[in-house]
Amino acid sequence: MGKIVKLDDSLSNLIAAGEVVENMASVVKELVENSIDAGSTDITVELKDFGLKEIRVTDNGEGMEKEDMFLSLERHATSKIRSKQDLFHIHTLGFRGEALPSIAAVSELEMISSNGADGYRLVIKNGNIIEKGEQAPKKGTSIRVKSLFYNTPARLKHLRSKQTELSYIVDYMGKMALSRPDIRFQLIHEGKILLSTFGNNDVLQVLSNLYPIDLIKDMVPFEGANGYFHIKGFLAKPEHHRSNRKHVTLIANSRMIRNHAIVKAVVDAYRTYLPVGKYPIVYLAITLDALLIDVNVHPSKLEVKFTEEKMLRELITKTIHNVLKSLSLIPSVSFQKEQTPSQQQKLDFVKRQSESETFVRESDALYKITPIVQSLKPEKQKYENNLEKVQTDRKKLPRLEYVGQVLGTYLVAQNEEGMYLIDQHAAAERIRYEKYRKLFGNIEIETQPLLVPMKLYLSKQEILALSEKLEALSSLGIFVKLSTDNEAVITDVPTWFPTGMELEYAEEVIKNLLEDGKVSVIDSRDQLAKDLACKHSIKANKYIDDGEIRKLLDDLSACENPYTCPHGRPVIIHFSVSEIEKLFKRIQS
Ligand code: ADP
Ligand code: MG
Repeated sequence: MGKIVKLDDSLSNLIAAGEVVENMASVVKELVENSIDAGSTDITVELKDFGLKEIRVTDNGEGMEKEDMFLSLERHATSKIRSKQDLFHIHTLGFRGEALPSIAAVSELEMISSNGADGYRLVIKNGNIIEKGEQAPKKGTSIRVKSLFYNTPARLKHLRSKQTELSYIVDYMGKMALSRPDIRFQLIHEGKILLSTFGNNDVLQVLSNLYPIDLIKDMVPFEGANGYFHIKGFLAKPEHHRSNRKHVTLIANSRMIRNHAIVKAVVDAYRTYLPVGKYPIVYLAITLDALLIDVNVHPSKLEVKFTEEKMLRELITKTIHNVLKSLSLIPSVSFQKEQTPSQQQKLDFVKRQSESETFVRESDALYKITPIVQSLKPEKQKYENNLEKVQTDRKKLPRLEYVGQVLGTYLVAQNEEGMYLIDQHAAAERIRYEKYRKLFGNIEIETQPLLVPMKLYLSKQEILALSEKLEALSSLGIFVKLSTDNEAVITDVPTWFPTGMELEYAEEVIKNLLEDGKVSVIDSRDQLAKDLACKHSIKANKYIDDGEIRKLLDDLSACENPYTCPHGRPVIIHFSVSEIEKLFKRIQS
């Protein structure tokens, strides 16, 4: 007799559960996605004991008929696809028909649903319906998952700390809320609201659940379009940065997506506005014809590809860069931080709460989201107005009256708005950087032959590498002949190279090209401009006379971006009159 037997349903559900239901967050994900697919506009997730004891997802979607409720618990039962063709036009988040039976295999599951006409309730445990009956017909569905993993101790053991598992849920809910600002989401743990959105398409309100309020107040709207793509979103001013790319949120046609090249396009727009190794906080929603997203990409995967991606990247970089350019980006010194809960603070709060049973003071309750949100509207309006104002009035820096130099490094200036400190080295670097960028950016660089060609001695390896870069080098206006004796003979250089400095400048360019093997000419031009700007700028701790200072300030205001040095450090900082008056207690804070 053969050895092969067909697994019974409960065993195969348990196996499928191993793949589908990894932790509490995956239960929340599957249930919330079902609610979204059912057209809900209001979804509430309630957790008990971090979801271990209970996860309940309630929605106001289309609901199910009684027969469908039973069917939904069978494997490969779905209302979302019927044919092979449908597989290529998936508009729902789920379609495999595996989630509910899998979850039911590792928990006690109660389902209440109504299409508005009739209502029904059933409870399933160990693959058996243990309770069922009519229910009041309130349109929508509520699924309660109790005692998750009660029958799979190994899975239970593999969970991370309760706190970490909760953070996964919060993270997921945050992403969903950002991708669907039109849906009202509530996430409640043991009666405490961890996330609460209004579902009124106010992205800033959704973001206020995830970021501190002073950052949200500083976010600026942007919008752009070309024939294929429409982009819209909010960007944080460069002073609010993060050390990884995760804070660039990408939404395409109402789905959270991942795409490295698109994130890079966003980051590129901030080039020179941010310190090295820092990344911006941006919410970017892309609308496009569904045909332009790679159809072969699995709908449950976040990674997507775009047809015409280059056009999209250009649109993003240009739109965001233009907004940054038009903003007044002088950071203002504030001596009082607003006490607003960030996501981390909220989680810390939950942690503290779960670790100790001690009484939590009212002032620690970090969940008062409503008042914060109400205060956002005027702020947003203010920025929109501000944006308009600055765009029409392109003088970048305010009029500054020079007062003096302090610490051999900073220039003090003033106007009716208050006091300004300017880092003279950073300012000089910015000015020179923009100058070099312009000079290198000019494709028709004027060159001149050197009366006496100059020799640069390099290693064999460097000569070999350089032999592949001669074209790039000539596009920068430097012509080089390579000899067998490890010599690079420089014959022509751009006319703007200062007399007497030709070799030094050419060497800098060549070294740059050799170091960044794969970097394009554009990137190396940029890097080179930065390097030259840094080397030849006035250093800190150097006395400069009034004439030089005036020229520095004039040149600075003529800069495209006078606010940061090419490495992203601030050039100018503002101390407003009111902040100063507050410090001296002349006015109430
Ligand atoms: P899938 O989502 O892949 O179709 P599921 O097992 O998650 O598979 O759900 C099975 C079916 O149950 C769905 O196709 C849908 O018809 C129905 N369903 C599940 N959850 C809901 C809900 N919240 N509201 C309405 N119908 C639902
Ligand atoms: Mg599903």
